[in-house]
Amino acid sequence: MDNNSMQRKIEEVLVARAASDGDGVQLKRLFGGNDLARFDPFLMLDEFGSDKASDYIGGFPPHPHRGFETVTYMLEGLMEHKDHMGNVGKLAPGDVQWMKAGSGVIHSEMPQQEEGRMRGFQLWVNLPASEKMTPAAYKDILADSIPQYEIGGVTLKSIAGELLVNGEKIIGAVTGLSTDPAYLDIHYNRDEKINITVPEGYTALVYVYEGSANVLGTDYPLDAGKMARLSRTGDLQIIGTQDTRLLVITGKPIGEPIVHHGPFVMNSAEEINEAVRAYSEGRLV
Ligand code: MN
Repeated sequence: MDNNSMQRKIEEVLVARAASDGDGVQLKRLFGGNDLARFDPFLMLDEFGSDKASDYIGGFPPHPHRGFETVTYMLEGLMEHKDHMGNVGKLAPGDVQWMKAGSGVIHSEMPQQEEGRMRGFQLWVNLPASEKMTPAAYKDILADSIPQYEIGGVTLKSIAGELLVNGEKIIGAVTGLSTDPAYLDIHYNRDEKINITVPEGYTALVYVYEGSANVLGTDYPLDAGKMARLSRTGDLQIIGTQDTRLLVITGKPIGEPIVHHGPFVMNSAEEINEAVRAYSEGRLV
């Protein structure tokens, strides 16, 4: 039944590379920095995970953002968020924090443990020009409020978006954003193939963080630590082996210029300069 012409193909495979951010936090970066149009509307994906407190204890002391959204998904450990609006959120395993920086936020993200394992992901989602200077907003999504589905041989947590998986509509905790992001955490309970219907023209990313998977129609094995960026047409069919865990992230490209400088992502160098000036003069927020 499989029609190869209707399947998304792997355009490129990215390997997690070691990076350091915040106050010496050791992490693995899948993408970010420059040449971001091919990931549109996404700007960065980091995985952090370590048993060694020295790898994470420094955390991310107060720092600004402007022009996009940050999505933190915790697998293990405890993290506390505080921002200039007075929000305080404690992230526990399975929790998600969805923060729209909009015109400006100053926040900290600090570990609430001195030993043990800290593990999770941070995804950056761009905002269109029309929303970059809108007020900041912040939302904690507790683990037990994230919709979970059992489809075929997989368990699927739907953090965001609406997609069809094996023809069944799944709806995430966050919907209604202009970039229509979908963010799924999929656990394979047995060797299994699933079919995900992704809207035409959308960016689609698959990041394997445990085990091994294949995109149907390609021979390239995606082992843990590898991310595939798919073509923008057709369904996405993913074969996973038992105990594989992977993220599927899809979204509607914005199609505007992307100028990224540190914690600011705008449409032009002039707007970046203004963000840097505003922050240094204490009027970002
Ligand atoms: Mn931040």
